[in-house]
Amino acid sequence: MKPAPFAYHAPFSLDEALDLLHEHGYDAKALAGGQSLIPAMNFRLATPAVLVDLNRVDSLRSVSRDTTTLQLGAMTRHRTLEQSQDVAQMAPLVSAAMPFVAHEAIRTRGTIGGSLAHADPAAELPAVMLALDASFTLASRSGSRVVPASAFFLGLFTTAMEPGELLVNITIPARADRSAAAFDEVSRRHGDFALAGAAAYVVNGADGKCEVARVGLLSLADRPVLAAEVARLLEGTRPSKESIREAAEASAQVDIDPTSDIHASSRYRRQLAAVLIRRVLERAFLSLEHA
Ligand SMILES: Cc1cc2nc3c(=O)[nH]c(=O)nc-3n(C[C@H](O)[C@H](O)[C@H](O)COP(=O)(O)OP(=O)(O)OC[C@H]3O[C@@H](n4cnc5c(N)ncnc54)[C@H](O)[C@@H]3O)c2cc1C
Repeated sequence: MKPAPFAYHAPFSLDEALDLLHEHGYDAKALAGGQSLIPAMNFRLATPAVLVDLNRVDSLRSVSRDTTTLQLGAMTRHRTLEQSQDVAQMAPLVSAAMPFVAHEAIRTRGTIGGSLAHADPAAELPAVMLALDASFTLASRSGSRVVPASAFFLGLFTTAMEPGELLVNITIPARADRSAAAFDEVSRRHGDFALAGAAAYVVNGADGKCEVARVGLLSLADRPVLAAEVARLLEGTRPSKESIREAAEASAQVDIDPTSDIHASSRYRRQLAAVLIRRVLERAFLSLEHA
């Protein structure tokens, strides 16, 4: 199928893009990599009257760092994230997750901003952002505001962004000393959307006790989920194989609300969740022991 007719604008500056989005409100959609929006338009699941193409707005395409944060422009391509040394050093969980995002051709076009704004519960980056406690800068003609990842994803393909707002920047706290990360997912074929996935970021104190145990989960509810039960059971303790298994099983019972579809039943997804949470936590804590 072909998309419904639409007007197309390709601004060169952020101000110009924000003016267009303000002018057209609900009728307008930003176009980033087009890897989700264009198929949706072709199927007429999305019928925006106006497209505001962000691909010429250079200021949205940047990777920068200071001592405490990694800053990513919303138009940073998945492939750039995958290959960036700054990303690998400051936020290794992002690098670990990138090979699981779709296929190389799609990663060459797709952007971090597009993936987060699209808010597909099966996408990897939203769950990774929850695990890393990232925050997002949203801009509109009337100013900007910062929203933590934990308050950004409101439901299936639904975020805290208002009409006229653009996601412009993603801020990720720099990895802490004595931290480790691990990502894993199960999909029917590599590159397909996952049946379930888990992204872990853990930090140990100098005394060997766990200070942070954040696990972001994908494909296990109508939005990405932070495994609250894992943090509750492991933070402040010295995690063992047994306590990690217990935390993973408890989390898979209370933190998620998986659906059944043609790919997997809800029950199977819950089982996968317990296995994946355990696996990423074991890997992360083990790598700290060997650091
Ligand atoms: C075959 C296939 C397999 C895929 N597999 C995976 C996968 O396994 N995992 C995964 O995570 N993704 C997967 N994707 C999706 C891919 O990662 C997309 O790139 C991503 O979801 C959307 O990014 P985009 O830059 O292409 O955004 P677009 O498609 O351009 O936009 C998506 C939505 O976000 C909005 N938007 C874009 N940028 C902004 C912004 N800066 N501010 C506000 N709103 C914005 C758009 O208006 C639109 O509603 C797959 C896609 C395909 C086609």
